Amino acid sequence: MADFYVDLRDMLFVLNEQIGLDALLKSDVYSDWEIDDLLAIVEQAAKFSKEVLSPIAETGDKEHCQYHPEDGSVTMPAGYKEAYQQFAELGFLGMGYSPEYGGMGVPQTVVMACGDWFVGANTSFDLSTMLTTEAAHLVETFGTEELKNTYLENMYTGKWAGTMCLTEPQAGTDVGAVKTNAIPNGDGSYRIEGQKIFITYGDHDMTENIIHAVLARVEGDPPGTKGISLFVVPKYLPNPDGSIGEFNDVKCAGLENKMGIHASPTATIVLGEDGHCKGWLLGEQSKGMREMFQMMNAARRAVGLQGEAAANAAYQAALAYAKERLQSPHYTKMKDKTAPKVAIIEHPDVRRLLMLQKAYSEGMRSFLLHVGYFADRARIAHAAGNEEEFDKYNGLVEIMTPVAKAYGSDMGFRVTEWAVQTMGGYGYMAEYPVERYLRDVKIGSIYEGTNGVQALDLVGRKITAKTGANLMTVMAMLNEFIAAHKDHPLLGSAVARLAAARDALNEVNMYFFTSGQSGEFLAVLLNATPYLELFGDVLTGYYLLDQAVIAHEKLEGICQAKGIDSSRKRKMRKLLADDRDARFYDGKLKAAVFFSNSILPLAPGKADAIRSGDKSAMDWVYDPVE
Ligand SMILES: Cc1cc2nc3c(=O)[nH]c(=O)nc-3n(C[C@H](O)[C@H](O)[C@H](O)COP(=O)(O)OP(=O)(O)OC[C@H]3O[C@@H](n4cnc5c(N)ncnc54)[C@H](O)[C@@H]3O)c2cc1C
Repeated sequence: MADFYVDLRDMLFVLNEQIGLDALLKSDVYSDWEIDDLLAIVEQAAKFSKEVLSPIAETGDKEHCQYHPEDGSVTMPAGYKEAYQQFAELGFLGMGYSPEYGGMGVPQTVVMACGDWFVGANTSFDLSTMLTTEAAHLVETFGTEELKNTYLENMYTGKWAGTMCLTEPQAGTDVGAVKTNAIPNGDGSYRIEGQKIFITYGDHDMTENIIHAVLARVEGDPPGTKGISLFVVPKYLPNPDGSIGEFNDVKCAGLENKMGIHASPTATIVLGEDGHCKGWLLGEQSKGMREMFQMMNAARRAVGLQGEAAANAAYQAALAYAKERLQSPHYTKMKDKTAPKVAIIEHPDVRRLLMLQKAYSEGMRSFLLHVGYFADRARIAHAAGNEEEFDKYNGLVEIMTPVAKAYGSDMGFRVTEWAVQTMGGYGYMAEYPVERYLRDVKIGSIYEGTNGVQALDLVGRKITAKTGANLMTVMAMLNEFIAAHKDHPLLGSAVARLAAARDALNEVNMYFFTSGQSGEFLAVLLNATPYLELFGDVLTGYYLLDQAVIAHEKLEGICQAKGIDSSRKRKMRKLLADDRDARFYDGKLKAAVFFSNSILPLAPGKADAIRSGDKSAMDWVYDPVE
């Protein structure tokens, strides 16, 4: 039986002790909330994920979604429809958006914390709620009052679901190539004609209606992304009283068979095959791509969270297993054939694997939740009319979004693979959840703009935006931390390694800058992905060390309260054996020191590789396709 382990202690540490969630509540934007209420929501999300979402993740993975060609309908695996309704009733849909239309208005930091549990417990299920929430938010931001009144409450309350429809057979990464047409009907609506593929939750039986956010080109508009508009296209036309009316000629032509996320229907959608599919323009004609970026950016952060959450879930499962599984004697008694077998967690190579998982997954959780926190700070600054502060925090969200998406999903995949490895043959078996986590997490590097595209976005747009101001904000954040803690009594040398990694990142920043100035774009394009990885390593190291500084202070506090000298090894060993909090903080110190000693020293090497100017991949003359 697969189990989903909830590490609430780690989540509360990030929210309360590292981020300081309560500080957000001093602003007018969130002043209606009490900290205890927000933390209760996070705990309720954890409980719901463990008790409702995790069990159906396992069964849904085996059952898959079913397509019925006779009528084009799709049925979800058992339990999904009921879980969706429960999820909505608990107020989790649209929880970060406007209470006026059925949202809850909690900070994004809390949305991310709850999302961590939801997506970690059941990635397939979580996609439906994320897409519904973000499609509704498009209507909230760009829709007319009439569209808002028609759709929002029904979507935020779980009556209707939502999707995002960009991809077509010829338009994957190259979204500008969409061929779906929109022809004005003369009454404010448009006739939509086209085909969309790979549409997540493109059809299902969880809700009575499905609202598609569709990219299409109004007849006569220019080719490429500049001619694309955004439409809201319901599966059934809504009646004025909020009930559903006529079928809107939105047909599901089939579902994909795929590696993972088996309980997420990936549909081919045919729009207007019989000539009567109606859509309504959201926002301005030809500005659809820019508007859709609101949903894409939110989805990118959600995909990063998906990677981080899978990493944490897989790590917890591997840790639980490693404490139980007995194999071989202790390494100090290797030659003694009669020595008792020990749990595999006692073997150094298994320890190393587990520490890798702990460091990456906890570091990424902190990183991802901070992106949510920066979004909250930007919102608060905007509401207070503080544009300088808004620019700073919004800039951090912008530059960190592609890194969160790509690093989170890539390292999420690596960590789940290490979890499988930790468990040996049993890790490979469907009896345990880690092989599913591995299959489910892989999609994160592909959808929402492949990770290669995220890297190009980072080097081509994000680090150069506002003449590098956002990049400078990140570097200043690192500089400030390093200056403040370089002489730390315990972590000084780990901070020095972070400083060296920061310098390596800076050298690549300069290399890219001079390459760009001299028109050497190939050097930048070829190294966009290694650069994003380096960027992610440095940020993860920073967040782990930030946690370690806090943990050190807390651990010293415990020692003082108990009259223990922390330099006395034996006394500390006893404290760690007896005191759970002390163990938690000590674990934070160990993870940060491990990452600083084992991963951050690779940064100068990675920077050297980037700056080598190697162009072999492009110079390579490959065989013609036979
Ligand atoms: C399970 C699943 C669910 C999905 N859900 C949705 C959904 O809900 N809505 C939706 O609209 N789409 C969805 N997609 C589509 C997804 O976003 C696309 O698959 C993705 O954007 C990549 O497009 P592609 O598959 O056509 O790959 P391609 O665009 O053909 O890319 C193939 C490879 O080439 C690289 N590449 C392509 N162009 C460039 C370039 N200019 N520079 C450098 N490298 C490049 C890519 O990085 C990739 O490695 C989903 C896909 C899957 C598999």
